[in-house]
Amino acid sequence: MSDGLAVTPGGWQPLPEWQRDVATHALSRRDRWPHALLIIGRKGIGKRMLALEFARALLCEDPDASGDACGMCLGCTYVAQGTHPDLRVIEPYVFDDEGNAMPVDSIAIDRIRELTEFTHLSAHRSRAKVAVIAPAEAMNASAANALLKTLEEPPEQTYLLLVSHQPARLPATIASRCLRLAAPQPDTASAATWLKARGVDRAELVLAQAGGSPLLALDLADPSLQRQRDSLLDELARPERLSPVALGAQIDAGAKDERKARLGDALYWLLTWTADLAAAAAGASPRFHPDRVEALSRLAARVARVPLFRYYRALLQQRLLLAHPLQPRLVAEALLFEYRTLFGRG
Ligand SMILES: [Zn+2]
Repeated sequence: MSDGLAVTPGGWQPLPEWQRDVATHALSRRDRWPHALLIIGRKGIGKRMLALEFARALLCEDPDASGDACGMCLGCTYVAQGTHPDLRVIEPYVFDDEGNAMPVDSIAIDRIRELTEFTHLSAHRSRAKVAVIAPAEAMNASAANALLKTLEEPPEQTYLLLVSHQPARLPATIASRCLRLAAPQPDTASAATWLKARGVDRAELVLAQAGGSPLLALDLADPSLQRQRDSLLDELARPERLSPVALGAQIDAGAKDERKARLGDALYWLLTWTADLAAAAAGASPRFHPDRVEALSRLAARVARVPLFRYYRALLQQRLLLAHPLQPRLVAEALLFEYRTLFGRG
């Protein structure tokens, strides 16, 4: 779709409190706004929200004296609705005939070609045009190459906002042409307040599960994910009674995309649990599952440490391969069988 009306999930939202200072500071210097800004920081702290806030301010038709968006004009309204003709949000999604977004593994070159065409058209409403690419490291090599041309010869009044969780994965030729902005990480109290305002129960606990990332915590707070977590962690806490085949069968239910997603979720719980187990074995407190400290220290006493670290690395590897799991059930079974071998008799 190239008419710009295809909207990826999650449009503009009011900026969370922990992003406000950095946004205010950046917008106070908007007369010198860079052609390309690279917003970096951990996943799930609201970098994309920050990018969309910048987009709204840059496209605002009546910004206030401090450079902030007015929130009232048509430009602001269209950004909030995700329909501004001078804004493109490029993410790893493709759109079907009805305009529904479906997630894909990478941002392909045709999306960047659309972007290049867009930057060479004259702006519809305001003088500026803004494109958000999130995450920028999702661009495949040819897409990144195509973007490089726009970065080298930037059209007038065109602003690129690149969002990246892993800037080291970006080609140096891209990263070096962007001004970097580190998105701030929220402290526990402001992140928990933000989650509670969104109706999340046990916000501190879910925030711990997310490693301190509030947006990830918001996803993890989903009741069905919490049920999956509780039952998987119960099983992991008793490795001698753990049934990889039964758990593999649970992952195998439903359509292909569901199986893949369920494997990804299970892998997340397994990874965070293993990280906590390694911490407990080293005498440290669990970071992700503080409510399971008893089970973790009991297991830590009988876990084989070197195989545990090897297992953790294997899980990280498996997560990288998650885009193309051959058989979600078999992957889960193999990982759980291996988990069982980590423990001596308890
Ligand atoms: Zn406005």
